Amino acid sequence: MQLSNGGQTWSNWAGNQTSTVQEIQYPDSIDEVAIAVSRIAASGGHIRVAGSGHSFTPLVNTSGTVMDLRRLPAEAAVDSAASTARVSGHMRLSEVGRELWERGFSLANQGDVDVQTLAGALATGTKGSGTRHGTMSSRVRGMGLITGAGEHVEITEADPRLLHAAQVALGLLGVVTHVDLSVVPRYRLREDNAVMSVDELLETWEEAKDGYHHFSFWWMPTSSSSKIYGLPPIPADHAYVKMLTAESAEGGTTVIGGAGARSVPAHLIYPDTELGDPFYELEYVVDATDDKETFLQLRDLMQRGFPQETTPLQVRWQARDEAYLSPQYRRDSISLSVSGMPGTDYVPFLQAVDRQLRGCDARPHWGKLHFLDRGTVKRLYPALDDFRAVRRSLDPDGVFLNEHLSELLG
Ligand SMILES: Cc1cc2nc3c(=O)[nH]c(=O)nc-3n(C[C@H](O)[C@H](O)[C@H](O)COP(=O)(O)OP(=O)(O)OC[C@H]3O[C@@H](n4cnc5c(N)ncnc54)[C@H](O)[C@@H]3O)c2cc1C
Repeated sequence: MQLSNGGQTWSNWAGNQTSTVQEIQYPDSIDEVAIAVSRIAASGGHIRVAGSGHSFTPLVNTSGTVMDLRRLPAEAAVDSAASTARVSGHMRLSEVGRELWERGFSLANQGDVDVQTLAGALATGTKGSGTRHGTMSSRVRGMGLITGAGEHVEITEADPRLLHAAQVALGLLGVVTHVDLSVVPRYRLREDNAVMSVDELLETWEEAKDGYHHFSFWWMPTSSSSKIYGLPPIPADHAYVKMLTAESAEGGTTVIGGAGARSVPAHLIYPDTELGDPFYELEYVVDATDDKETFLQLRDLMQRGFPQETTPLQVRWQARDEAYLSPQYRRDSISLSVSGMPGTDYVPFLQAVDRQLRGCDARPHWGKLHFLDRGTVKRLYPALDDFRAVRRSLDPDGVFLNEHLSELLG
């Protein structure tokens, strides 16, 4: 096992979360993970597992040990008859997509980037868009964990309580070694992306949101907003609308067509956000029933109250799921996201968005900036006590807690 200790610094991708940690551990095997967890637990220490560091919130921060699994062997295997795949938790989504494709399968849906680790993405309920699709976590059928006692536990569908706690768990139940995912036969996606005025968008809305495999949009408050995500120039108060249709895999890996009108293997088309300069993102998830009104009210807030903010407003759809800590728990949802720009005084803007969406009982993305407190978490998550009970059973000494998560969920 490789070890870096003594005053090491851990930082996330965006650079807004930094911790001085006791040590960063890079285990070479799952046995080493279990031994390290037992040792740290016995000494009363704390561990946070790092994925690729693409969360904006203090999830990995700790003054104890950060465990980074990048040196573990990465494996993927498919059970074709069951349409499930067993994948190492630390494998990056980009590799997961490639490995599945080679075996004749794809993930049912994905988000805008594929740099995250699988376990990291699942831990915060990462998702893409599409009214027929739940979060990536909703596809989890089982999981291998090293618990707070250093024991290996296999979670399966036979125990729905454990499964629903593990699907979105913020790294609180243990170190995820592998994940069993339900997968679908491999497919390609065709883009029919378009720039629309808000009136055109509203006309397309109802039919498109259910008609496409993926429908989402970025509304641009200013003519320079599209730069943030590496998109071509788009006039102010217009939207860049993403419409993706599933096609058979017959075209193989050939890329047909150009930007905005491509047909390519699904896993290569979802990640379309350029990872340029960092930004600080907030994403809140609300009931989809009043999707249009929610969007229009937020647009109004941005136009009237914060005309200096250039961030695009992204809107996406997700189907409900059963994961106790999922923002989409038992609620067909839309998610709305905006970002603050480093070097600007963006906090009042994000607070105003928070106030407005709180009125809709918004549940924040756990990995993106939010203003949750313990009482609000309790109010928003009806199955919180079930999650807490599972957490206490798998990590009774709170080895995997940090300050942020103790406050909200401990
Ligand atoms: C540019 C950008 C684009 C994004 N796009 C989207 C998007 O389209 N949709 C969306 O929903 N979200 C999106 N996100 C958010 C991102 O998907 C989540 O924050 C995700 O959790 C990050 O995964 P990660 O591998 O970086 O994990 P980290 O951020 O490093 O960790 C996240 C959590 O996972 C835990 N964890 C990681 N690995 C393990 C493990 N093996 N065992 C136990 N716990 C573990 C950590 O302890 C932590 O609690 C985006 C973020 C960025 C920066």
